[in-house]
Amino acid sequence: MSKSYEPVIGLEVHAQLLTRTKLFCGCSTAFGAPPNTHVCPTCLGLPGALPVLNGEAVRLAVRAALALGCTIRNHSRFARKNYFYPDLPKGYQISQFDEPFSDDGFLDIHVPGAGPSAVDVGEGENKISRHARIQRVHMEEDAGKNFHDKGDESIVDLNRSGTPLIEIVGHPDLRSGAEAAEYLRTLRDILVFLGVNDGNLEEGSFRCDANVSIRPVGTDTLGTRTELKNINSFKFVEKAIAHEISRQIAVLDDGGRIVQETRGWNEKESKTYSLRSKETAQDYRYFPEPDLPPLIIDEAFVETARHEMPELPRNKRARFVAEYKLTPYAASVLTMHPRVAAFFEEAAMLHGDAVKIGNFIQAEVLRDVTLTGLDAQIPVSAKQVADLWKLVDDDKISGKQAKEVYAKLAKTNRSPGDVIAELGISQVTDRSQIEDICRKIIDANAKSAEQLKAGKTGLIGFFVGQVMKETKGSASPQVVNETLKRLLGLP
Ligand code: ADP
Ligand code: MG
Ligand code: ZN
Repeated sequence: MSKSYEPVIGLEVHAQLLTRTKLFCGCSTAFGAPPNTHVCPTCLGLPGALPVLNGEAVRLAVRAALALGCTIRNHSRFARKNYFYPDLPKGYQISQFDEPFSDDGFLDIHVPGAGPSAVDVGEGENKISRHARIQRVHMEEDAGKNFHDKGDESIVDLNRSGTPLIEIVGHPDLRSGAEAAEYLRTLRDILVFLGVNDGNLEEGSFRCDANVSIRPVGTDTLGTRTELKNINSFKFVEKAIAHEISRQIAVLDDGGRIVQETRGWNEKESKTYSLRSKETAQDYRYFPEPDLPPLIIDEAFVETARHEMPELPRNKRARFVAEYKLTPYAASVLTMHPRVAAFFEEAAMLHGDAVKIGNFIQAEVLRDVTLTGLDAQIPVSAKQVADLWKLVDDDKISGKQAKEVYAKLAKTNRSPGDVIAELGISQVTDRSQIEDICRKIIDANAKSAEQLKAGKTGLIGFFVGQVMKETKGSASPQVVNETLKRLLGLP
């Protein structure tokens, strides 16, 4: 691969706002209903039906724009974007054009990498930081959806028609597929923590178009770009961009030229393919939407949005490290989802030792958690986890037994104490009982005991292991350790 080109990537992201009703009518935005059951004259585009703006959509859009560092315009406007498509019966989409409600934000990302701009972020990891500028965030309505998988019939489903979206338009500041994927992950996390979007790529409520071009290193004129559309996984976006960069380099190295076009991603063959040419740019004949007044967002509205802003994922991570003394890795795992983070904080508060609780959630609970959009199915309550670890603290059960009890607790509302009584388990904490067992093990392994006393300290693990085996894991390893050392006269 030629080394003399620099890749340039700019992303356009469409994110569905989590309102109950559509952007300009009262129809439900619920996903998965039978086709054309959430429709009315407005979202069907019937002549004479008038749009009325959904205030909740504006509230969520402003919250998202603020979280991305954008400035909010006091005066903005909706515009008609005119084009024909079967899923757009009005013949135009209501969007924002030259007067969007917000401009000039940014997203800072960090991707693993080496080279002159890499910095050590701790734990021996080098990362490249990228300050990706955002041109604007604007509001628009979604179109319907065409289904062509019904034999010789096609279905136009207008349930999605008029669903509120924000479009987040990035500057061409990204330099690799990995950076683009990280930008998307970071952006999705933010929107999910804000409660603005459910981050669901499969259902299409978070969608991305990636614009890709290359240029000779050291120049700043933009090269001709292609646009990669409808790629529904971050991994695929990363691969598609990487492939597209090499394809463009090969074309230029071959003396060819890049054709401005829209391309798709074929995952099976691992390559992008041409969908349609964009050489003669489509003219959408934008004009101000005559059926809607200008959108006035006053300072009080913006202040309220700022005030209602939930904690952002990166702030939560930093706070978990500072407040609970978690490692950066643990903090990032426990902030993978707002509900997981809330569950951890509640259990940590009820119990008191956040590190122990955090470890247990990571090791045991997370593998049983199912995340669906903003919801999480967690098989135990925070109180059950906290109570379970209080029993470990009180030497009622060992850490190992806690796992066993957890397995029985999951998906029930029983108390850990109940389960322990039922299982008939308890930790052997009685020191004289432990001492008897230790003596027995020392007698049975007299030769090893001599070696241990003579300085072969590694053997202590063997003795602890034997005692634990004898007690079926129910003794406190700490007490066993202490007792063995005392009996053998070790320091
Ligand atoms: P549209 O794609 O709707 O015609 P724009 O021309 O404003 O709209 O471009 C939109 C996106 O394309 C932006 O995210 C921008 O960063 C990106 N972009 C524009 N030109 C290039 C380029 N030459 N290379 C890579 N990305 C680009
Ligand atoms: Mg585009
Ligand atoms: Zn409607």
